[in-house]
Amino acid sequence: MLIVAGLSLKNLHPRVWDPNSPYFLASLRAVMVSYGEFHQMPAQMERAERLGLREYLGVPKHVDVYLDNGAFYFLRTGESAERRRYQEFVEKARPDWYPMAFDVIPTPQMSKAKQEICFKQTMNANRAYVHDGYVPVIHVSRMLDSYVDAISRHPKLAAKNRLAVGAIVPNLLRAPKALSYDTILGKLVQVRSAFREKSIHLFGIGGTSTLHLAGLLEIDSVDSSGWRNRAARGIVQLPGSGDRMVANLGKWRGRVPNRSEWGKLRLCRCPACRVKGIRGMKASGIKGFCHRATHNLWVLLEEVRWLEKHLDADTYHNNYRRRLDNSVYLPLIEKALAIRTTCPSRPV
Ligand SMILES: [Zn+2]
Repeated sequence: MLIVAGLSLKNLHPRVWDPNSPYFLASLRAVMVSYGEFHQMPAQMERAERLGLREYLGVPKHVDVYLDNGAFYFLRTGESAERRRYQEFVEKARPDWYPMAFDVIPTPQMSKAKQEICFKQTMNANRAYVHDGYVPVIHVSRMLDSYVDAISRHPKLAAKNRLAVGAIVPNLLRAPKALSYDTILGKLVQVRSAFREKSIHLFGIGGTSTLHLAGLLEIDSVDSSGWRNRAARGIVQLPGSGDRMVANLGKWRGRVPNRSEWGKLRLCRCPACRVKGIRGMKASGIKGFCHRATHNLWVLLEEVRWLEKHLDADTYHNNYRRRLDNSVYLPLIEKALAIRTTCPSRPV
């Protein structure tokens, strides 16, 4: 499973993809930028179009550049974007992976009628972008059956080898009327088994436990900005288990590490901890942020390495409980594991 590191144009540090940066993570294979951000920064948009996204970011050949269409940003701000302008940006900036424009994301609180409108508008956009490598987008919502049906019935969309699944974030964040975790799991299983040949990308998966879930369901790639968001709040991720607050940055509160967790963090081999250790993690300002963000992303990449090693060797079921501590997602992970054991894996 590919981890796609979500970036922010407002601050491109730490440059984890750059071999010349002290924060370089050699196992990182993909980064994501959002069209929503370019839309707010016309000068950056023009520069990325002139240079191409790869050169604009200074991304080496072994790292793929993913573009998010900004649908979540447009949902939050109520701003609108032009399809034609997005298309022009894709053509000039040449990302390696890019969704159609624009999906209309439903929120769990919306009435059935409103969710139907989101579905219709999103499917119209999918049908308008069957050409040139645009990736179709569907949503984990009450309309998922209709999405699966509509994609399967459309010859060109059915023939596409990629699919992106969005709208999972408001549900995982337990927004009012959010789908239950069980329902989300069921819906993801449904998508995976309906489109066995497609490379499936899941938008916005943040923590280590949800990575396990995605890995068990044989999702091909996930993106996350959680490594940066957590770092900004003074939070670091512990391998296998949850988040811990290591730097007191004022307004945020969280669980602090206990003695054995500090011990674990002291032993961390990520590029940031190897040089600066716990002191770097606790630092304020941009240095502390870069340290924590690099550490967090490294933990995610290592988690996937651990997960895939054990899934491949068929030793996952003997080890995941110890690894995941007492994650709230544990019951769900057990269900996903049971589904994986009873259903044959998709053809490789
Ligand atoms: Zn570290």
